[in-house]
Amino acid sequence: MTEPPPTDPSDESEAPAEPSAAGDGPSVADDTAYDVPPDAPVSECEYCARPFESAGLLALHRGRAHGSAITEGERTAYEETYEAESGQLQRFRLKALAALVLLYFGLLMVYAVV
Ligand SMILES: [Zn+2]
Repeated sequence: MTEPPPTDPSDESEAPAEPSAAGDGPSVADDTAYDVPPDAPVSECEYCARPFESAGLLALHRGRAHGSAITEGERTAYEETYEAESGQLQRFRLKALAALVLLYFGLLMVYAVV
């Protein structure tokens, strides 16, 4: 018991509590890690190099994240994609509402019978 273990008590500050040196990608505000399959077709943002699955998603991202920097053609693409997606969302809301109404009255009928 003459030799103490070689651990220094001042070494405790090595705990990974501080996420200071975490980002090693392009310097953007969000440091999300992207896991893209190597053979996947990718549309990459020209402004922040973020990968997207389709050109439509990329157009939406450009309009939302880089609205002040995009060109006129990119803005037109963003607005067209936004309109198309708004229509899809509207149809989805109507279908979801119809499903809820059907479920509600279906359960009501089951409750009335049983
Ligand atoms: Zn971007």
